[in-house]
Order: sequence, then C-alpha cells, then structure tokens
Amino acid sequence: MRIIQYPHPTLRHVSKPLRRVDAELRGIVQEMLALMYAAQGIGLAANQVDLPYRMFVLNVTGEASQSEAEMVFLNPVITARKGMEEAEEGCLSLPGVFGQVKRPDKISVTFYDLEGQARDLELSGLAARAVQHEVDHLDGTLFIDRLTPTGRLEIKQSLDEFEIQFAGQRTRGELPGDADIAARLAELERLRT
Ligand code: ZN
Repeated sequence: MRIIQYPHPTLRHVSKPLRRVDAELRGIVQEMLALMYAAQGIGLAANQVDLPYRMFVLNVTGEASQSEAEMVFLNPVITARKGMEEAEEGCLSLPGVFGQVKRPDKISVTFYDLEGQARDLELSGLAARAVQHEVDHLDGTLFIDRLTPTGRLEIKQSLDEFEIQFAGQRTRGELPGDADIAARLAELERLRT
C-alpha cells in the first residue's frame, strides 16, 4: 500500500459504500493509519491508497502516540453544515501544495465505526474541516477544486510539475494505464461494496 499522488485517476473515483467490516478491512485501516503518520498527515482517504471504498482515517493531532484521537469513518455522510470559514489546506496526495479553502465551520456527520456501530458526531474547527476534506476525496473532489481562481493560479506551476512527473512514471511503465486501474477498482468494488 502506498499513497498515490495527483493526477492519479483513482483520486477522481467516486467511492462506493462498504457492505461489511472484517479482519481484512481492519488490516487495511491499520496500514492507512501507519502511512498517514509516516507522511505527517491528519487524514487519509481510501482512494488515496488506490482503494475504491467510502472510508477514511483521521487523527487531528497527527501524532501516532495520541492513538486515543484516532478515528475511522466508514460510509460517512455529512448531514448538516453551518457557518463558513477560510483556512489553509494541504493534501498527502499533493505534497508541498497549499491553498486557502472556504468551508462550513460546523458539521454533523453520520458514519459507521470499525465495530460496525452507527455513529453521529457534531464537529467544528479543524476536525470539521478535515472531515469535509476527506469526504470530498470519496467523491473524487480535491481541495484544489475549491480554490479561488487566484489561489488556483498560484499553484498552477506545482500542478504542472505533478502532471509531468505522473506522465513520466507512465512512460517508464511504473504505473498502469487508465483502463487497468479502472478494471482493478471495479474488481475491488465487486468484492466489498
Ligand atoms: Zn487530501
């Protein structure tokens, strides 16, 4: 498992709800948490590790030692949004790229936890922002899609560099083609969603 980077097509995939929790899924979650901490992130969505599931992990402290703050969101749905606030965001699939994003600053979210229990949370501040950023991932949306035209212009050169790097990896045969990626995602969905 590894974190994929922009413009990998799985980052644009609309993920499907999971049908069940099992040992394999718990293993996937542990791997995702380890990758998130290693990359010094606070959240990581399944499609950022090339998996087509509606699931993400979160620890707003970013510290593996503070495991009590770890959360796993399965099939999350944001049910209410209030207020609006602008803050800087980044993304583990776009390392080094940052931009100001406006989002509601209070949300309600329903989801299932790793025990398969239905949960309901009201969040504000960084947690609300992070959950919205991760739910966006599950819909194939990246924070760069939510920048102002000026903000977008500021990061254009960085995006171009990511695109050149990705094209190079493809040319060298280090990454599968779009059709192979889509076929693999479809097979994984068939097994688990
Ligand atoms: Zn992200």
